[in-house]
Amino acid sequence: MTTQSVAKVDLPYSDGDFFHFESMLPANESCRLDEIRSWLEAEVRPVAADHWNRSEFPQHLIPKVAELDIISPVRRQGHSHLFAGMLTAAIHRVDASFGTFFSGHDGLFTGSIELLGSEEQKADWLPDFYSLKKTGVFAITEPLAGSDVAGGTRTTARRDGDNWILNGEKRWIGNSTFSDYVIVWAKDTHDEQVKGFLVDTSTPGFKATLIPNRIALRAVQNADIVLEDVIVSNGMKLAGANSFRDTNKVLKSTRATVGWQAVGLQMAAFDVARKYAVERHQFGKPIASFQLIQEQLVTMLSNAQSSMGMMVRLAQLEDEGRSKNEHSAMAKAFVTKRMRESVAIGRSVLGGNGVAVDYEMAKIFCDAEAIYTYEGTYEINTLVAGRAITGLAAFV
Ligand SMILES: Cc1cc2nc3c(=O)[nH]c(=O)nc-3n(C[C@H](O)[C@H](O)[C@H](O)COP(=O)(O)OP(=O)(O)OC[C@H]3O[C@@H](n4cnc5c(N)ncnc54)[C@H](O)[C@@H]3O)c2cc1C
Repeated sequence: MTTQSVAKVDLPYSDGDFFHFESMLPANESCRLDEIRSWLEAEVRPVAADHWNRSEFPQHLIPKVAELDIISPVRRQGHSHLFAGMLTAAIHRVDASFGTFFSGHDGLFTGSIELLGSEEQKADWLPDFYSLKKTGVFAITEPLAGSDVAGGTRTTARRDGDNWILNGEKRWIGNSTFSDYVIVWAKDTHDEQVKGFLVDTSTPGFKATLIPNRIALRAVQNADIVLEDVIVSNGMKLAGANSFRDTNKVLKSTRATVGWQAVGLQMAAFDVARKYAVERHQFGKPIASFQLIQEQLVTMLSNAQSSMGMMVRLAQLEDEGRSKNEHSAMAKAFVTKRMRESVAIGRSVLGGNGVAVDYEMAKIFCDAEAIYTYEGTYEINTLVAGRAITGLAAFV
């Protein structure tokens, strides 16, 4: 099996950082990233494939990752967006299921509260979410509303005195079978605007059921949620979440994060493919000595590094407060498209072993499909960028 970490592989450019992007980080952030990488290699990589195969989330890692103190690297810890992006890529390079847990709790869930909570809500709620004493996820997609959730959300929120009553269904909601909280996005029956509510998953009327037989991110517990007369107090409505425009403030930042996830997966695919190609012999030679295989490895690394270049620039724009929805949309679309090509090449470099999870590549290949689709599909993010450069909306 070729499942060793890239750090142990004695190859030129062994870390895959061909254009030395990481040298853009200050020394303290670079050291911190190395510390987190060592933890990922020690704790996550050894258990990742087994949990993926069994479609079980390694919940025992949550208290351990809490000790690492990595939630909210930018807003709470004052790190750059570049550091946060490279952190996301580093986690996904080891395991995309674990990475999706981190990005879901950190960016989508905690990020929604940071961006849209009142000062009082933030003070009350965030400490437990930063320390991972409690975990949360983000629920917007529905069985009948995916790409069109902005206008198509069917889950309703009806104001009843000091409470709201939520009814409806959500689909694909990551880890909602065991999370303590879910931010549910629902349409206010009064003004038809989509609003966000912090829902305790133990509230009567809330039910999450694992979606079985998934081919991607199998360790993530994606679930169907049913909300039947779920009562939440008005204090649990995110104060600043009053229309889908507000939801989009969260998505702008998390779509950028998904771009970094796709960089991580491409680097993971490159790590596995290069190591395999150097070790695997056919016709009496390493397959890496064949010109066609070298072209494939170079294409994989070029894709990953050009993706990294776009993400680095996006991170700089975020740090300068100049990034817009169309920037993160174009980056998510471009990088995930490159990712799809990279992981397909990687799978082919491993020949038959490319379809066996024990060789890691099959897991990477399948996980890429989820990343290509979630947080706005390739098509939708392309249309967001297309609207920005033509002034014409191809979708409403
Ligand atoms: C593994 C996984 C995890 C997820 N986790 C979460 C989560 O935690 N929380 C959450 O809320 N959601 C989550 N999602 C849902 C995800 O965001 C949606 O699947 C995604 O937004 C697409 O919606 P859909 O599946 O309903 O596809 P549809 O919207 O039905 O799209 C089907 C196809 O039609 C295309 N299409 C649709 N409209 C147009 C158009 N106008 N022009 C061109 N093409 C179009 C799409 O691009 C796609 O190719 C997850 C999904 C997956 C697979």
